[in-house]
Amino acid sequence: MLQAVAGVHRGLFHSHAGLSVRMSSTGINPKGVLANRVAVVTGSTEGIGFAIARRLAQDGAHVVISSRKQQNVDRAVAALQGEGLSVTGTVCHVGKAEDRERLVATALEHCGGVDFLVCVAGVNPLVGSTLGASEQVWDKILDVNVKSPALLLSQLLPHMENRGTGSVVLVSSVVAYVPIPKLGVYNTSKTALLGLCKSLAVELAPKGIRVNCLVPGIIKTDFIQMEKSLPYLLPDWNDIYGLQRFGEPEECAGIVSFLCSPDASYITGENIVVAGSSPKL
Ligand code: NAP
Repeated sequence: MLQAVAGVHRGLFHSHAGLSVRMSSTGINPKGVLANRVAVVTGSTEGIGFAIARRLAQDGAHVVISSRKQQNVDRAVAALQGEGLSVTGTVCHVGKAEDRERLVATALEHCGGVDFLVCVAGVNPLVGSTLGASEQVWDKILDVNVKSPALLLSQLLPHMENRGTGSVVLVSSVVAYVPIPKLGVYNTSKTALLGLCKSLAVELAPKGIRVNCLVPGIIKTDFIQMEKSLPYLLPDWNDIYGLQRFGEPEECAGIVSFLCSPDASYITGENIVVAGSSPKL
């Protein structure tokens, strides 16, 4: 019954999809709890970012999808539009200033403003010792993983402020708390994101913009296949402390939708672990 109502009309962007309707403090919104809102999601053509983009759109938002490769953007946009969801897309390598500018311009052109920014894009080009990493590797990892969310947000901020409320979600990793050997530079970048979350939360609170951090554990995506060292490093940890399995990208998506929703209106500066176990006290 609720699902049928949710699929009737999506308001501003006229999408017919969306089956997930959450109770909010003001009751049930038949258009979805994020109706008439606009979300920009980086690194969203595969894996965790794609699952988040899909969930935000299912919950009523219009979502601007992006990643480095046009063919991936086209495929992701077609897949989600094929599900009746309201999405647009553009190429954006988050480490490139001109690409970030295009992403902002695309969001404004199609949507007139932005309510949510979810920074998923992240890289790890090195499996090896921290002190053996070249300056080029340090620059690439820190540019993409740490600097780009801040730089993109600085460009979007004027267009978020005038919407009254806003939500930013950064994507860290449990390696921020429990470092994995041979991923030292990546581990460090993910720990830095926890600090970035705290600082931005304080800075942007007076503007009504909340900043939180998703901290995934081991999630089954192509990213993990590339980490050749992980399969044999992780099973023991998971067996001893966790839910005895690795996670699915969709298991990271609901919490992001929640953090963007009115239900999270008094939550900012939090690092929320989705890992099948908890590395924090
Ligand atoms: P994934 O499945 O490999 O997907 C990565 C996505 O990001 C793709 O859409 C890719 O598309 C895009 N991308 C890669 N580099 C980019 C860049 N420089 N600029 C913009 N887009 C870029 O990866 P994932 O596992 O979902 O990981 C997503 C995020 O979660 C990363 O920040 C990662 O550190 C974090 N994380 C993952 C895990 C895990 O276990 N999977 C655990 C903790 C944290 P293109 O190739 O077209 O650019």
